[in-house]
Amino acid sequence: MSTTQDKQLSDMKISEVLIPAEKVAHVQLNNPLEHALLVLMKSGYAAVPVLDATYKFAGIIGKTVILNEVLGIESFEMERLSEIRVMDAMAANVPTLTRENSLLDGLNASIDHPFVCIVDKDGYFDGILTRRAILKQVKKDIYMNAYKK
Ligand code: AMP
Repeated sequence: MSTTQDKQLSDMKISEVLIPAEKVAHVQLNNPLEHALLVLMKSGYAAVPVLDATYKFAGIIGKTVILNEVLGIESFEMERLSEIRVMDAMAANVPTLTRENSLLDGLNASIDHPFVCIVDKDGYFDGILTRRAILKQVKKDIYMNAYKK
């Protein structure tokens, strides 16, 4: 039986390298931007998924968008962080895939996005596929093919 270890990227599904939902930092639609910025700063991530109260995927929020929201003419108006909600600043129009999609679909999506959100057929958040996970697999493929020669 082939394991993830010796599989070619082109034969793999997203489910094999997905970071599961319970290990993914996220924020909720109703959270103030202040909370989102705290999560981003403490986790060190540039952006994280946004979920609704039932854990359905809703969008992505990142540090740059948050800072742009509170950027005034000559200074940051940090008090606005507690007034604006995540749902009013997040990017909602982002591609999603399912765990059954191929890793090649994930590779295509990750060209434009540092991570891709994975949802089930009802839109519930399943986890993320990161560029790091894809690059690790690309590296394995390159090494495997080099040793075959
Ligand atoms: P990476 O390819 O590992 O650098 O991850 C790319 C991006 O995916 C990060 O900058 C984060 O925005 C996001 N990310 C990775 N891991 C997590 C996680 N455990 N929780 C939330 N976001 C994550």
